[in-house]
Amino acid sequence: MFKYIKFLYQIMTSSKYIKKGKCNKCGNCCRNIILTLGDNTPIRTEEQFERVKEWDKHFCNFYISGKDENEVLQFTCNALDKNNKCKVYFLRGFGCRMYPKKDTKFLINGGKPLDGCGYYYEPNKSFSSFLKH
Ligand code: SF4
Ligand code: SF4
Repeated sequence: MFKYIKFLYQIMTSSKYIKKGKCNKCGNCCRNIILTLGDNTPIRTEEQFERVKEWDKHFCNFYISGKDENEVLQFTCNALDKNNKCKVYFLRGFGCRMYPKKDTKFLINGGKPLDGCGYYYEPNKSFSSFLKH
């Protein structure tokens, strides 16, 4: 029974990656934000943005600051000051605190932290260690 609980605990808490490095306060993650509609598709037009702001006032915390290579709008958070400091640092949301998220599916699919980010990921075991078992 104890072995079974230990096994379950290991599955629930293990990750294939570990996050390394530290925040260099570049502010990139606060100004390259992709916002999505209710069906998870990214916002591509100003009209869509205006509509979602009426639907959810949280979207008013951002302004359009660019477009990526896929014609998806990029947003900057209003709380970012000109020195790359967060004006609501102690009250910032969970998503801000977790960035860059240790999402195994995202990483396996080639996802990585934004350019300039001081964090990076490494597999938590070497390839050869998997072959030993
Ligand atoms: S609340 Fe602060 S940490 Fe979060 S996106 Fe805005 S500026 Fe960045
Ligand atoms: S992109 Fe990375 S290094 Fe830059 S502010 Fe965000 S977490 Fe920090």
